[in-house]
Amino acid sequence: MKKHNFSAGPSILSEYTIKHAAAAVENFAGTGLSILEVSHRGKEFVAVCGEARELVKELLDVPAGYEVVFLGGGASLQFCMVPYNLLKNKAAYLDTGTWASNAIKEAKLFGEVDVVASSKEANYSFIPKDYVIPEEADYFHFTSNNTIFGTEMRYDPDVKARLVADMSSDIFSHPVDVSKYDIIYAGAQKNLALAGVTLAIVREGALGQVERPIPTMLNYSTHIKKESMFNTPPVFPIFAALQTLKWYKEQGGVAAMEKKNIEKAAILYDEIDRNKLFKGTAAVEDRSIMNVCFVMNDEYKELEPEFSAFATAAGMVGIKGHRFVGGFRASIYNAMPKTSVEALIDTMKEFEKQH
Ligand SMILES: *Cc1c(COP(=O)(O)O)cnc(C)c1O
Repeated sequence: MKKHNFSAGPSILSEYTIKHAAAAVENFAGTGLSILEVSHRGKEFVAVCGEARELVKELLDVPAGYEVVFLGGGASLQFCMVPYNLLKNKAAYLDTGTWASNAIKEAKLFGEVDVVASSKEANYSFIPKDYVIPEEADYFHFTSNNTIFGTEMRYDPDVKARLVADMSSDIFSHPVDVSKYDIIYAGAQKNLALAGVTLAIVREGALGQVERPIPTMLNYSTHIKKESMFNTPPVFPIFAALQTLKWYKEQGGVAAMEKKNIEKAAILYDEIDRNKLFKGTAAVEDRSIMNVCFVMNDEYKELEPEFSAFATAAGMVGIKGHRFVGGFRASIYNAMPKTSVEALIDTMKEFEKQH
């Protein structure tokens, strides 16, 4: 039976990515060696890494003065690397979910953190809109897509401060004005590759302003200077990332991805709103086009395990909601075809008929 992978992360990758990754495990770039066993210093892999960095720049229209690096440690290490490199006295953070609050916790180790607004009291079901960013803030950090709670800021906030964003779960799903940002970072395992690599886009002029000494590995400058080859980079994840980036380009780039994503999300939210059994958990105006969170209406609450089993039997994978929200979460990242979203919708309709 066809499986539809709605997992939140690691998550679905394009068939193109899987096919080329599989071929390279057997024979990488005609070397007669597996991608799993080649030197990162070999010319074939150096070319892969270079091409991936260039494609990130092309797809996101990255202006001059920025560099793209591939790092280890996941998005979670960026929670510490960002303030380590950028926080002089005070930074502003928007608290929109678990990942945002994890980032806040780390930043507090490096300076004063002004949490300008939080939706924690409402279990992060919406994005706060009214907040004031202190003039003296070194940067304003936000999470563009809240993977766990299904809310998204699909826009570059219109504020005076320089921006820093965790775009782990919606990078490449819509255009971004990179010139407003000092750093954009994203763990790869949602919209780019397998786990193991983190993408960072860094404005070089933002670096070198803090007085504290920065450990070599945690200094963005190290990785920029050495073109992500200071130490052994995650070779296979970077190779897979390149395949996904090529696929994005072939699909027409991020504007085309956004159009498809909006369509996919719209039909699923329409069904959630229409179906008597279900309701969405995120505020309508903040609904994510990447992670669609929904629960059973109160009078049908006891049907949750039954729907879970029913959907699993129909080939749906990974739709169990995060324990902080409950119910269900369908992650419909870039690589998710509309046909799979339609399959989930059919399952919801069919289940409704039976009850
Ligand atoms: C998954 C996720 C993270 C955590 O990423 P790791 O690579 O596991 O550290 C951080 N932020 C967001 C928005 C995420 O979706």
